[in-house]
Amino acid sequence: MKRCIYCGKNEKEVTFDRKEHVLPRLMGSFSDNLTIIDYVCDDCNSKVFSPLETKFKEDTEEGIFYQMFNLKNSFQIRIRGDNIKTSFSPGLGDDFFNEIFPFFKQEEGEWKIFILPQIKIKRYGNNGYLILLVDELKKLTRDKKKFLDIKELLRNVQSKDVSIFTGSDGEHDDKPLKEAIQLVSDLGVDYKEGKRKFALTASRSKNGFGISMSCNIGNEASRVIAKIAFNYFSYCAIEDKRGSILFHKNFSKIRSYILGKIDLPVEEIIVEIKNEPIIYDEKMVGARWLGHTITFSLDDKNNIISEISFFGKRIYTVMLGPAPQELIKREFGCGHFFDPIGNKIFGLTQNFTKHKSGDKAEPGLFNRI
Ligand SMILES: [Zn+2]
Repeated sequence: MKRCIYCGKNEKEVTFDRKEHVLPRLMGSFSDNLTIIDYVCDDCNSKVFSPLETKFKEDTEEGIFYQMFNLKNSFQIRIRGDNIKTSFSPGLGDDFFNEIFPFFKQEEGEWKIFILPQIKIKRYGNNGYLILLVDELKKLTRDKKKFLDIKELLRNVQSKDVSIFTGSDGEHDDKPLKEAIQLVSDLGVDYKEGKRKFALTASRSKNGFGISMSCNIGNEASRVIAKIAFNYFSYCAIEDKRGSILFHKNFSKIRSYILGKIDLPVEEIIVEIKNEPIIYDEKMVGARWLGHTITFSLDDKNNIISEISFFGKRIYTVMLGPAPQELIKREFGCGHFFDPIGNKIFGLTQNFTKHKSGDKAEPGLFNRI
């Protein structure tokens, strides 16, 4: 009988048609996507987790980094700004340009910061903003859903909350700007041009592009991080044909928290946040890899903890709960590295008997890292 590890309902009460991704799709897609089948119900997957993941994308440093890479060439960036504050300085010699949202693009094998033609709309939510990418927006058909949806979203936007940044061949070439203004008007915004400024991007290379963010981990972000940790642990247990362990009472607290049934102080779930590398290779070079790392292991009190980091940023230690007796073994644990650029997953086990060649991930409960 299929049963949901989160809400506990069975296949007579709920459906199990969808796959639950261990890592939300906003973290990228992988050649061997880890998905949980028959253990997470469609209600938890789409009604509870999807909206939570959207908030994570729009209101955490990791989510905003994902949007800066714009790996799927989306036409819009959404920053909610309730828990995160962003500040940018493109080095163009005038604060006027600090409103520009930066993007990462690969050039000659290196990640560089680019300014892309964009329309910025302030007042998204209470404290946030939207960035619409001119080149991607131009590709949308005017009478199709995507364009109409964004038009609807911008229904009450006022001209003073709109800023437009475009490139051009010189100060007197305003064709790209006019095109972008036309686009804003096609979106139904009554835009009246205010201040217009011009800067040479050549000055940018010597000043560099400053990016700074400060982010609190709110309850919703914490639930998403905890869910990814528990999903990964669950995936490993299911692979080992030990899925029944996931319903153990020792995990009822973390399951209820992820579902939002109980409220806990964030520090009780995310017990530590640090920046030191986890992976041996990272320690050797003293730098973080651009990717996601997930591990789980036992702490010195035999609690199961998971260490997680996204895009090589902060490392969160998530408390999953006291280990059931049968899991307390020396080899308990597992870890994987997810590369969102090369779309591959690498096992991080140090157990050489289980260490095979190739990229294939080998998740399990007793692959201690
Ligand atoms: Zn469920």
